[in-house]
Amino acid sequence: MSHQKQGYYGQFGGMFIPEILKSTFDELISHYEEIRQDPTFWQEYENLMSTYSCRPTPITPADNLSQYFGGAQIYIKREDLNHTGAHKANNVMGQGLLVKRMKKTRVIAETGAGQHGVATATMAAKFGFDCTIYMGAEDVERQRPNVFWMEKLGAEVIPVTDGTQTLKDAINAAFRDWTGNMDTTHYVMGTVCGPHPFPEMVTWLQSIIGKEARIQMLQAVGQLPDKIYACVGGGSNAMGIFSGFLEDESVELIGVEAGGDGLQTGRHAARLASGDSTVGICQGYKTRFLQDEDGQMRDTYSVAAGLDYVGVSPILSHYHETGKVRFEAATDKEVMAALELLIRKEGIIPALESAHALAQAFKEAPTLSKETKILINLSGRGDKDIFTIAQAFDDQKWKEYIIQKGEQYNA
Ligand SMILES: *Cc1c(COP(=O)(O)O)cnc(C)c1O
Repeated sequence: MSHQKQGYYGQFGGMFIPEILKSTFDELISHYEEIRQDPTFWQEYENLMSTYSCRPTPITPADNLSQYFGGAQIYIKREDLNHTGAHKANNVMGQGLLVKRMKKTRVIAETGAGQHGVATATMAAKFGFDCTIYMGAEDVERQRPNVFWMEKLGAEVIPVTDGTQTLKDAINAAFRDWTGNMDTTHYVMGTVCGPHPFPEMVTWLQSIIGKEARIQMLQAVGQLPDKIYACVGGGSNAMGIFSGFLEDESVELIGVEAGGDGLQTGRHAARLASGDSTVGICQGYKTRFLQDEDGQMRDTYSVAAGLDYVGVSPILSHYHETGKVRFEAATDKEVMAALELLIRKEGIIPALESAHALAQAFKEAPTLSKETKILINLSGRGDKDIFTIAQAFDDQKWKEYIIQKGEQYNA
């Protein structure tokens, strides 16, 4: 995209920041460009991820499921095996190495469900940085176990009582902190959103998923996958795996958003798969947001906290517009059925977020030929979701649906 203005993807992206942060962003961009040019950075990064996390993460052939559906051959990229339980480790550890090079001593981050907060606090403990995590007061109450671990890891967790007391208010508070502490502090953005260079930089760090997956498919399966499925919250695990295959015309890329109670109910977080979003500028970048006619952000809903967000990566908004990526939505019910099936058939407990990618893949797998190879990015493990999942399985509306679905699969 060299012909384009830096940090733009078609009409999306940009860097809409307060004047006072200009020099901080200039400094960040210049360090980012330096590490991209420097092969020793990527070596150091790969080495750290192989000794501290579980990289390269394997690709598991899901033979039981493939047989069960009788269609496509299903493969699963195991980001659930990362340290702290999800692909988020790739991003935070990479930014940790960058902070060390920038000679800063403190990191801050926003967190909604708490997963990015725990990952950042873990990185700070490992590197010896001071760490402050901003979290909506409402979310602090809902995510007690994550708050407990962040504090044990040495982070200060600040409950944000502005606005709706959720993720977007935490982001605003983190930006306010940054403007007051630019010399010492780096803001660890959790996904491929926000002002340039974050979408590009976080995609680059997450591209380790796609780089590995491409080599692993060629070596173990002897061909590229025909289709790749990934769930989309902000878009970082999707961009991570997709980036290994962007040049391959034969590979179809499918992003799966949170369909919540169903697109027709309005209770969802499908920014690209629904017709409900419009282009706007918020939190430093231009993308498609779920907003009302006055530009106020709408309430979003999903059983998966990590997908429950009004904005989406500007890069994915661009790929939506060009048709490079197909976007679909999976409802909560479909997600619970897919989650149960993966647990029972393969003995793998997925995160609720990741189960969205499974749900869409399971809809399509039975209709595909046995020669078709599909790859699902399993972004994280489900331990964190134990209470939500237990409650959902108790809920009558899911129970009936899962039984129905089971009979249908078995027919
Ligand atoms: C945070 C999270 C997501 C959503 O974030 P993306 O940036 O869209 O990848 C998905 N899966 C898991 C397990 C997560 O923790």
